[in-house]
Amino acid sequence: MFQRVAIIGGGAAAATLLSELLGRRSPRMLHLDWYTGGGAQGRGVAYGSRSPRHLLNVRAASMSMFAGKPRGFLDFVQRDDPSIAGTDFLPRFRYGDYLEAEVAHALHQGTIHGHDIHVIPLAVDALVPERDKVTVICGERARGVGAVVLALGALPPQPLDGVGADVLASDRYVVDPWPLLAGAGVDPSPRKVALIGLGLTAVDVLLELSVQWPRAEFTAISRHGLLPEAHLNTAAAPFGDSAELIESMRETADIRRWLRLVREATRQGADWRTIIDSLRPHIPGLWNELPSPQRTRFLRHLRWAWERARHRMPPQVCRTLAALEQAGRLRRRRGRVQAVDLAGDALQLTLTCAGATQTMRADLVIQTTGLNLDVNRTDHPLVRQLVTNAHVTPDPLGLGMQAGSDGRLLHDGQCWPNLFALGSLLRGTRWESIAMPEISQQARSLADQLLAD
Ligand SMILES: Cc1cc2nc3c(=O)[nH]c(=O)nc-3n(C[C@H](O)[C@H](O)[C@H](O)COP(=O)(O)OP(=O)(O)OC[C@H]3O[C@@H](n4cnc5c(N)ncnc54)[C@H](O)[C@@H]3O)c2cc1C
Repeated sequence: MFQRVAIIGGGAAAATLLSELLGRRSPRMLHLDWYTGGGAQGRGVAYGSRSPRHLLNVRAASMSMFAGKPRGFLDFVQRDDPSIAGTDFLPRFRYGDYLEAEVAHALHQGTIHGHDIHVIPLAVDALVPERDKVTVICGERARGVGAVVLALGALPPQPLDGVGADVLASDRYVVDPWPLLAGAGVDPSPRKVALIGLGLTAVDVLLELSVQWPRAEFTAISRHGLLPEAHLNTAAAPFGDSAELIESMRETADIRRWLRLVREATRQGADWRTIIDSLRPHIPGLWNELPSPQRTRFLRHLRWAWERARHRMPPQVCRTLAALEQAGRLRRRRGRVQAVDLAGDALQLTLTCAGATQTMRADLVIQTTGLNLDVNRTDHPLVRQLVTNAHVTPDPLGLGMQAGSDGRLLHDGQCWPNLFALGSLLRGTRWESIAMPEISQQARSLADQLLAD
């Protein structure tokens, strides 16, 4: 058992690991330092939104923090409102309430069990891992611990190539949409807004700003010009033949063959959503078997289709967006943004689509390109320090840090015995590693490892 552990990160992943560790009776006292980076404990970016329009994209019954207590979130919300069903898509702030309540409970339980817990609302600046300890540096303080877990979530978004310094210095280009949404009040001025990217981040931006800015018109640009798919109105039964499908996929680690197998399964009558969902728990194993050129091929040709199908919108969100399109307030446009330039008191976007170059103007451009996990291209101070000092190995495809299957981070081709990651930073190792169902599983087995004798 590691007796002195530091968890770095203040979001849902860290909160889940903390709750797993403190909820168990361990034979010896645990010294736990939790560096939250400031902000509300456990909410992070995803569950820090206070907007009732921002919904979970997973049904309530599948959002427990605890792999061993699957009704956790549903029980929490039904205490206030017994009419809530497990199939409902609830506002994300309710999930934030649940996270905060579980964290408070875990801290209380930990104290009762005699553990020594320090919640430090600061960001860690640097780490020095060695074989028998890790030194955690935070401001003036350096402290040696037995093990460290990085639960940093996604990295701060970086501006796209082709966006000049003068554009970034203007107030017309938004790299990180979350602070804008948190501060947006009602404003009736007309304006043309362009969104670069059409995933769930763009959906959140559209839901919020179309209400706060009732005369704004939106153009959302992506390579294929398609919105995420929608969940079914009612939850469907799981796909029955998943074991056979996964067995066939395991036989040949080839993306084209996998796609053929999935298509064949849909032709046999199952709804494609149930097939995708049944694959989900097996994805880390399948991804692990996929050779690097095949992973590259997947990212180049299929990633966009997988993300659309896997990260789906609740049906009511889909209806709201359809209404915006019908009212002429939302246009979708195919293209790749090559450049954004200042043009008088507006911005000009240069796009390419099917070999042709086009331009369009907007009063405001918002980057909604999704999660940044490229540790080589980040200004996150701790991650930069770890990469610069070669304490960790970047994933070659820009998907976080290389790690073993148990979450231990790699350096020099070997796993550290005492430096772990949880959640988004493991995307290159596991692919499915960013949503709560996967994070809960990881937190549970990481707690087992940290407390094992
Ligand atoms: C908008 C949005 C909606 C989502 N909706 C869903 C959903 O409906 N269902 C679902 O299952 N998943 C959803 N997800 C996936 C989501 O990422 C996870 O569910 C979860 O929020 C990830 O938590 P995290 O702790 O890994 O990261 P984050 O929530 O990003 O937290 C990272 C934390 O690390 C802290 N930190 C960073 N650097 C340091 C440092 N040096 N020292 C100390 N602390 C530091 C940050 O301050 C932050 O508190 C959504 C994600 C987003 C972005």
